[in-house]
Amino acid sequence: MITVRFAPSPTGYMHIGNLRTALLNYLFALSMKKKTGEDFSFVLRLDDTDRERSKPEYEQAVYEDMKWLGIPWNRLEHQSKRLARYNEVLEDLKQRGLVYACYETAEELEYKRRRQRSRGLPPVYDRAGMKLTDEEKAKLEAEGRRPHYRFKLEHKETSWDDMVRGHCSYNGAHLSDPIVVREDGTFPYMLPSVIDDMDFGITHIIRGEDHVTNTAVQIQMFEVLGGKVPVFGHPPLLTGKEGKLSKRFGSVSSRELREEGIEPMTIADLLARLGTADPVVACQTWDELADHFDLTRFGRAQPHFDTEDLFKFNPHVVRSMPLEKVNARLKERGEKEIAGNFWAAVSPNINKIADIAPWEKICFSDELFSLNEDDRAFCRQAAALLPAGDFDETTFSAWTSVVKEKTGRKGRDLFHPLRLALTGCEQGPELKMLLPVLGRKKTIERLQG
Ligand code: GLU
Repeated sequence: MITVRFAPSPTGYMHIGNLRTALLNYLFALSMKKKTGEDFSFVLRLDDTDRERSKPEYEQAVYEDMKWLGIPWNRLEHQSKRLARYNEVLEDLKQRGLVYACYETAEELEYKRRRQRSRGLPPVYDRAGMKLTDEEKAKLEAEGRRPHYRFKLEHKETSWDDMVRGHCSYNGAHLSDPIVVREDGTFPYMLPSVIDDMDFGITHIIRGEDHVTNTAVQIQMFEVLGGKVPVFGHPPLLTGKEGKLSKRFGSVSSRELREEGIEPMTIADLLARLGTADPVVACQTWDELADHFDLTRFGRAQPHFDTEDLFKFNPHVVRSMPLEKVNARLKERGEKEIAGNFWAAVSPNINKIADIAPWEKICFSDELFSLNEDDRAFCRQAAALLPAGDFDETTFSAWTSVVKEKTGRKGRDLFHPLRLALTGCEQGPELKMLLPVLGRKKTIERLQG
């Protein structure tokens, strides 16, 4: 069974880069289900070991955003609740000599790195901690130093076939042994993530390319812990106006997008294609989108993301929404449902769901709109020429042909006063579509003024 995960840190509101990671994992799993018929599992894991920066409001925002996007999860986990398990694994690794104590301060480490660089050497940790005798360690601790711990990387090639990057290979000798426990006893991301991925049976990990070197390290961790190494895929990071997208650079958050009327499927449709050569299609459901999804179509170049693209594409998604979906969205917003003929009339003039309400007011209120005397006289004349029977989409053209013939008006002189009388607006939905929505009674009232 395919098991994917999305592992945000609740230390800020999610931005478009996070949403992209979540949606790529979901789409990947969905597309595999379509190919194999086998169900999948989606784990939502909160990387909340940083107790100071993790906030309940950010965690709530993660749930809200996921629900809003329409990505369901089958399993919810908090790293903060798994510390006992991490400690257990840590003890085992210590026993096996795969984790060792180090005593350098941050300044001392920085000094070492600077010296290495000045000699033209890569800034790789020199494993000084591993060479310390028990007496030396005791002496350092007597000085008040607390140890941090590093994982001993094997100095060998670690390689994997990346779903996006193809064959990847890193030599452990070129990487610093990663810190797995800080001086204060807290766990940085690296080891807990592997323990979780192993314990939760994660089969595929799709995450940004900023994690590529972590993957080399983590594969070694999977190996020593006896876990099955998942399949990895690292799509390139998005770049934005401010360069790299991140919470700190004030990139647009998903809640801002939601408030601006961007539809979740607008985000999904765009992000599922951004970075591929495939055209963006206005799909209305994840299922439909998954039909065309293929991670191997992602290129190696960093795609440029511009929030404006969401605003440009949103109208396509909204206008092609089926009536049931529009009504479901209106219901969510606490607004009244609408009828099919009204949606057919106004949808081409709408960029977001919130644009529906003003047209509803225009179509269904008892308001009459003012006209100059000349135009009013013309509209009254036109009212008398309305054809008999129920209004449909053909009524307008039949009616205006007669009006044209009887009054001699044509073009703008003919249509503009009718539009003003019927809607009070200079522009708007096609009048042939609006006429059946207004109905005979309101049409006559508004023409009469
Ligand atoms: N919490 C990590 C992050 O947001 C998860 C990385 C991963 O997917 O392994 O970067």
